[in-house]
Amino acid sequence: MRQGAGLIPARNPEAVAVLGIESTAHTFAVGVVEEEKPGRVRVLANQRAMVKPDQGGIHPREAAHEHAEKAPGVLAAALKEANLRPEQLEAIAFSQGPGLGPCLRVGATVARSLAVRHALPLVGVNHCVAHLEIGRGLSGMVDPLLLYASGANTQVLALSRGRYRVFGETLDVGLGNALDKFARGAGIPFPGGPEVERLAAQADRAKLLDLPYVVKGMDMSFSGWPIAAERLVAEGHSLADVCHAIQEHQFAALVEITERALAATGKTELLLGGGVACNARLQEMARSMALERGVAFFAPPRSLLVDNGAMIAWLGHLKLRAGGAVAVEDSEVQPYERTDTVEVTWR
Ligand code: AMP
Ligand code: MG
Repeated sequence: MRQGAGLIPARNPEAVAVLGIESTAHTFAVGVVEEEKPGRVRVLANQRAMVKPDQGGIHPREAAHEHAEKAPGVLAAALKEANLRPEQLEAIAFSQGPGLGPCLRVGATVARSLAVRHALPLVGVNHCVAHLEIGRGLSGMVDPLLLYASGANTQVLALSRGRYRVFGETLDVGLGNALDKFARGAGIPFPGGPEVERLAAQADRAKLLDLPYVVKGMDMSFSGWPIAAERLVAEGHSLADVCHAIQEHQFAALVEITERALAATGKTELLLGGGVACNARLQEMARSMALERGVAFFAPPRSLLVDNGAMIAWLGHLKLRAGGAVAVEDSEVQPYERTDTVEVTWR
């Protein structure tokens, strides 16, 4: 079938698997999923390649260049893992935003070419919403609140009047980016979060160094503490004790906002999402707060917490079922898309 002039190929009713492409920032990933039973996801493939800059942070154009180089290999690995040929797929989904423009365009280009080449519907999805939906699809939770803490994003989201509303968020940088910035200054390569966690585990837990804890209304700020933490290191405190203090202060801010959002919305389920949520200490703090409130708690496995293609495929599947395919000419990337502008048509 020729695709063009707004024509969207029909779904293949016999195919059940959707392929999803993630490329919002540092990760180029391809996942394949199917619906195991109503509302529940089965992950058939989840392959990824991550940019690791030699020095400094992520440079959007250089990262995009690396994504383009790695895309064919990651795609082939995902199809092999799923044991499917592209013709056997039901649709191609991709992260349409938010994210770094040059990186988003690589994923979108791969998605469009697959869709056109194999006459498959194309579905553009919101990356932040995908973090929430994969948690629902894995846990069977009905109406959870999501604490989403990743590199670039830090948000507390929940459904209200047809959209995922932002109940609290960072006013500046995402917590992951702040962790990576501090780590870089301390000579720890990207991504810094896992090493901060490893060091913090070696700290004297009875000792808690002072660091900024910035909560303003329902929002948080993370741009200031890395400088204060660097100062503590310069004053001679061990990196372990500083990392411990970082986790205790910044994760407490996350959990405080999350708890208040639970109280305000009355939601009874809490989900985690994003790379920072891999952190065992953050999981422990969030879980114990949820337990105390009688709120159900779920954290996806690490491979589905970090940026991944399976969550994009799963949201693509949900959106496709609700008639959310997009024509190629309408599929431009949305680097600044806000979570609460997305109409939740599939719930
Ligand atoms: P994402 O953007 O969702 O893929 O998450 C990547 C971010 O998660 C990076 O900023 C990492 O430093 C951070 N991260 C990954 N693992 C951990 C961890 N165990 N503790 C804290 N941060 C982490
Ligand atoms: Mg993410």
